[in-house]
This record gives sequence, C-alpha cells and structure tokens, in this order.
Amino acid sequence: MVETTNEFDHNHLWHPYTSMTQPLPTFTVQKAEGVYLYLDDGRRLIDGMSSWWCVIHGYNHPALNAAIEHQLKNMAHVMFGGLTHEPAVELGRALLSIAPPNMDKIFYADSGSVAVEVALKMAVQYWAAKGYPDKTNFVTPRSGYHGDTWNAMSVCDPVTGMHHLFGSSLPSRCFVDAPQSRFDGLWLPEDMDSLKALLATQHATLAALILEPIVQGAGGMRFYHPEYLRQAKALCAEYGVLLIFDEIATGFGRTGKLFAWEHAGVAPDVMCVGKGLTGGYLTLSAVLTSADVAQRISQGEAGVFMHGPTFMANPLACAVALASIRLLLQQDWSQRIQAIETQLQAALLPLRSSSLVADVRVLGAIGVVELTRTVDMAWFQQACVQRGIWVRPFGRLVYIMPPYVISQAQLAELLLQMIAIIEEMAQGPA
Ligand SMILES: *Cc1c(COP(=O)(O)O)cnc(C)c1O
Repeated sequence: MVETTNEFDHNHLWHPYTSMTQPLPTFTVQKAEGVYLYLDDGRRLIDGMSSWWCVIHGYNHPALNAAIEHQLKNMAHVMFGGLTHEPAVELGRALLSIAPPNMDKIFYADSGSVAVEVALKMAVQYWAAKGYPDKTNFVTPRSGYHGDTWNAMSVCDPVTGMHHLFGSSLPSRCFVDAPQSRFDGLWLPEDMDSLKALLATQHATLAALILEPIVQGAGGMRFYHPEYLRQAKALCAEYGVLLIFDEIATGFGRTGKLFAWEHAGVAPDVMCVGKGLTGGYLTLSAVLTSADVAQRISQGEAGVFMHGPTFMANPLACAVALASIRLLLQQDWSQRIQAIETQLQAALLPLRSSSLVADVRVLGAIGVVELTRTVDMAWFQQACVQRGIWVRPFGRLVYIMPPYVISQAQLAELLLQMIAIIEEMAQGPA
C-alpha cells in the first residue's frame, strides 16, 4: 500500500531534533506567501518564526524570485576553484559595505555550522602561522549555540547540547559563565570574572573566544549587556586570543541594528553570517575576517586556508543574497524593526504579571516569553495551528521573530493568539 504524504513523512523522515519512534506531528505546507504559510487542508497560518530567523522579507517575494530566476538563466552553479562570477563579487561588495570596518576578506560556505567550522579553523591556522602551534583550543560562554557539526557543537552549551552523550568523540572546550547583565539593565562588573580567570591561566592554548554578540539564540534566547563585548574584546587583546562573532542569528537587522556588534561598537577578528543572508531562499553563509588574519594564514605552513566546499559561493544563493541585502537597505528597515519592537513590548510586557511567566524580553524584532515550566510542544503547536499562527517553542521558551514585512494588524493577531494559548496553558493541565 502506498503511504500518504503524512504517513511517509511520519515513517521515514527525520525532522530537526525529533524521535523516529515518537515523532512530533508535522503539518504539510503547500505554499507560502508574505507572512502566511498555507497548509494542504486550506488553513492559513501567520508565521512568527521567519523559518528560524531566515525569511526576513517574507515568503515568495517578487524581488527575490526575480533574482533567482535571472541568475538561473545564466547558470545555477559553477565551481569556485579557479572560477568566479558576478553574484559572488557583488555580494562580497555588499557584505563589506555593511560589515565592521576592519573586515576585508570573505569566505563563502554552505551553512551556519560550516561557517563556524571555518572560523575556528581560521583561528587555529592564524596562530600556527604566527608560531603558536599550541593555541588550538576555544573558549565560549555557556548558554551559547553555534550549530550542530562536531566543532560547532563543541562550543554550544555543554548541558543543553548534551555533550556527555558524545563522550570523548567531542573535542573538549573551555566554558565561562554566561553574562548575567541584561541588555537593558545594570552592568554587573563580576560578569567578566570567569573569562578573566580563564584567559589568565589558559591563554597559551587558546586560539579564539567565540560568542554570539548581544543575543544568545537557541541556547536560551538571552539578551546581554553590550559592555560584556567591550571588555571581552579588551581581554582578548591583552591575552592574544582572537575574537569570533557568530552573527548567524543576529545579522541583517533582527536586533534593531544591521549586526549586533553595533550595539557595543566592538569589531571582531572573524565574523560569521548566515540564516537571513539569503532572505531564507537558499542555504549560504559567509565568514568575514580582517586583512591581518587572512594575510597571516596565507603566510603559514600550508600557504593557503585549508577549506573549500563543493558548493562554495553558489551563484543562485549569492544572487538571491545580494537581492535580499539590497531589499533590506533600500527600505527604512531600522524604523520597521523599531515599530515591530514597540508592538512586541506593548503586547508582551504585561505578561510579566502572569503566574506562568518567569520573564519577558524584547529586542528588535525578537519577542521572548520565558515560562515557569516546559511547554508541551505537540499540544502548543496544535493550538497554534487551530488559531491560525505558527510559533515553535522550545523548553520553557515561547518566542517569535516574525518576517519584517508583517503588518501591524497581522502582528497584533499573531500576538493575540499566542497570548491566548499561553493563558490557556496557565489555566489548563497542558
Ligand atoms: C542557526 C545557527 C547556527 C547554525 O546554522 P545552520 O545553518 O543551522 O548550520 C550557528 N550559529 C548560530 C548563532 C545560529 O543561530
């Protein structure tokens, strides 16, 4: 007997972080347009997730479709070894025009996790070339998330990343306390103690400090004080450790600045971007670095940077990324994000008085409601679909980061329904 779409999916397809014996229910999307996901049964959902930070301009955008279609007529792909093309070059120009001023060299990779791998390798090759072959390890704050490949995973929070599960197969990294000073709160100087102490004793073996600036995403949706970045940068300079910013989630306006480093005015040595880079059309990431880091790597034993993905600088992905950046910059994106932030604050902050709510945080186009207990995801998502919205919580966190094109009325409806579900949780047994 032929399995239906849903049966085949249920029986054969892994979904992110799910069981194959007790998979969570899935909903079949037939098409998506603007902020709406259309299910195969005709229901229409307002998307609160931007498909995990990516779809900043909404789905099925005419300008992004046109960029892909135009590029497709020339070529979908060519190797980047020995060849180059306009989409890669023009995207490079666009990226450098919005990156920290010290960024000068770009490495294109396939996904966020691979960008993190590339950044870590750059740091190790940099120190080897400088005559410090022992500087091969990394330090990172707890509660971080940097992706799911081995080395990216090794710098994720060891508890939520379940590092013990992988035993000695996972490289062992140095962890420091996550900053406790809230983004909009008082600066607590003791936030630096853990990093200071670790660098003082371990710097000789450390290639880089890697962190997500301002917003720790999948590791807990925490927003921390910009002073942490300023002092971390100073400590890295003092102890000879490179600073890597993972801006894969925070990039392209999400936090209210084009990139989160701008909140602190602190530029890293290496920066990873991904997710929103292509407006959510294709998988592409980029690792940006300074001329100094790139030159040093190129003077090392290998004489080259030791990485080269098959689909490096895929022309379709570069073309749509360029169109997405242009689309962002040609509008008053800052005012747009601010309007979303104001609306999120007005709707969500009152939830702080609910007994089920531990905390509410809003920054840019990110709204987080931290509950006092773990959400039953299957129940919550079913409730969302019944109410015509799409929100995917994790752990005790219910959060939204809608596409920037969401209208005031659409966002009001999304928030209304999401809050109603949280209130239902507070009353019911779910
Ligand atoms: C999503 C994410 C990654 C991993 O990106 P993938 O494209 O899923 O590999 C890395 N770092 C951060 C901060 C992320 O949010």
